[in-house]
Amino acid sequence: AKPRIALLGLGAMGAAFARTWLAAGYPLTVWNRTPSRAEPLAAEGADVAATAAEAVASARLVVTCLLDDASVGEALAGADLTGRDLVDVTTGTPAQARARSEWAAGRGARFLSGGIMAIPPMVGVPEAGGYVFYSGPSEVFEEHRAALAVPAGTVYAGRDAGLASLQDVALLSAMNGMFAGVAHAFALVRNEEVPLGEFAGHLSAWLVAMASEGVRLTARQLESGDYTTGVVSNLAMQVEGNATLLRTAEEQGVSTELLTPYADLMARRLADGHGDEDGAGVVDLLAAPRR
Ligand code: NDP
Repeated sequence: AKPRIALLGLGAMGAAFARTWLAAGYPLTVWNRTPSRAEPLAAEGADVAATAAEAVASARLVVTCLLDDASVGEALAGADLTGRDLVDVTTGTPAQARARSEWAAGRGARFLSGGIMAIPPMVGVPEAGGYVFYSGPSEVFEEHRAALAVPAGTVYAGRDAGLASLQDVALLSAMNGMFAGVAHAFALVRNEEVPLGEFAGHLSAWLVAMASEGVRLTARQLESGDYTTGVVSNLAMQVEGNATLLRTAEEQGVSTELLTPYADLMARRLADGHGDEDGAGVVDLLAAPRR
């Protein structure tokens, strides 16, 4: 028989997780601060707990999917966590995850922190490629791996509880930069006779093509410490190209405020004498290497 899971938090994400566990035949206890949100899940076979403490008491594996770290502390304040394995997939910072891990240990629980790399429609849909980073003791991850693999893929990110959040936030930060670029691109073309649907196809294919090789090349350069290997677009040329990007924005009457921060960093790196590299050196301007 499959082990019972207690799930605290039935927002968009928690409810999506819940449905996959029910569909896979896991006995499931749910709790949500606003009780009405549990009703549809009760109809689908979940047992509804009246309090968070009652939900925690029902299962060894306790999963929290709440708004933020503060809400996790609030929801679990009155619960006895002794002997529980707490898996918190609420988005937070690495320091919050480390502190939450200590907090859980002080209450007799083992702890995994999770960082969800999916949106609710990707949950329970393996082809969509969603997954969750988990960090904390590997034995806890291994013990619950089968259950954790039901809503989405799993990636073990290391023993340090902060590492799942760190990689989650790193990916989200990169996504922000990407969508900043997307916003700028649409701003450039929106008032011209450019069919936006067709343009979107070119834009998304371009981003995928540039990202897939470029991201890996940056990793190889940062690992080797030589930022000139494999360069096909040198920084001197790119900085010259940036002038064209900025000038085009001005010609089109589009604000340059999303372009200038990155262009300024590239120009600074070039001025420091690194024209034969590509973009990897910008990483050194943001965070000096530990050597
Ligand atoms: P929702 O806003 O849909 O749900 C928030 C949940 O947190 C609700 O269950 C809410 O309860 C509960 N909550 C908020 N404050 C408290 C509190 N003080 N005490 C107890 N419960 C509280 O958010 P999502 O489900 O979308 O997100 C949940 C987590 O998943 C977040 O950390 C989010 O960053 C992460 N995530 C979400 C993604 C998404 O696309 N949705 C993608 C990746 C990660 P109530 O119903 O009572 O308000």
